[in-house]
Amino acid sequence: MSRIHATLAAAALAATALAGGTNAQQPAPPPYATTKVEGTDNVYIFRYGGHQSMFVVTPAGVIATDPISERRPAAKAYIEEIQKITKAPIKYVIYSHSHFDHIAGGQPFKDLGAVFIAHRNAKARIAALKPADVVMPDQVVDTKKVISLGGTTLELIYVGKNHSDSMLVMRLPKEKIIFTVDWIPIKGIQFREMADTYVPEIEEGLKKVIAMDWDKLIPGHPGPGGVQTGTKEDAKNQLAYLQDLSAAVKKAVDDNKSYADAEKEIKLPKYESWPNYGPFLQMNIERYYDYWNRGI
Ligand SMILES: [Zn+2]
Repeated sequence: MSRIHATLAAAALAATALAGGTNAQQPAPPPYATTKVEGTDNVYIFRYGGHQSMFVVTPAGVIATDPISERRPAAKAYIEEIQKITKAPIKYVIYSHSHFDHIAGGQPFKDLGAVFIAHRNAKARIAALKPADVVMPDQVVDTKKVISLGGTTLELIYVGKNHSDSMLVMRLPKEKIIFTVDWIPIKGIQFREMADTYVPEIEEGLKKVIAMDWDKLIPGHPGPGGVQTGTKEDAKNQLAYLQDLSAAVKKAVDDNKSYADAEKEIKLPKYESWPNYGPFLQMNIERYYDYWNRGI
């Protein structure tokens, strides 16, 4: 599932790179790249394929996040990219949520002595499934934890269940940046059938995130055109999408429409320019149909 997501994101990246320019023959993006977040001195995005991860450099060390290394050597590149910027030690690796396409492959960070942190429910999932290549968290977060390192403060906040039961919102209060993965895409509808997603709690979580003080969102995948950061407007649009989807599906259920008819008839033209609307809308409808029809 997640690899398909990554492939789609990478394809979108490449497609938009081609379509966006006046020259049709632009090269495909390199396999990985590191970008400093505009307006900051020390906040970076490491992208590998269609996944991305935030890291923060301080004089006392580096706070890294998701290793994004499932079945690929991204962590090695990630560490090399960090070490081009600083020789300070990598102190932490923080998992955004439990899904392996984001958190696998952290062993090279562990070998350098990093402390791994995740939500308590992520640790429980890792302990239950024992994926071969996921480092077990050393520390857990329940509702909130604050990391202070070399003059930087990073809050790890749990706003409840959404795209999993283990999602952290990582907030840099001074820089007004959040990093949170997979549930607030930039100009995108939800992934496939919204597996592991809690409806309607995801809508409540979005309201909490929108109410927080921040200007820039770093998601776990670039958006259309390879855009790596979003705004509060993107979060508001995502909430509007889910509310519009929910209302449309509820009406279909109230009108005794079948799954098939609901999926065929519901259109949400406001969002049809989002690149994954075509492939995923029907599957998103199915998720909300289950909710309104069966309470699941
Ligand atoms: Zn995920």
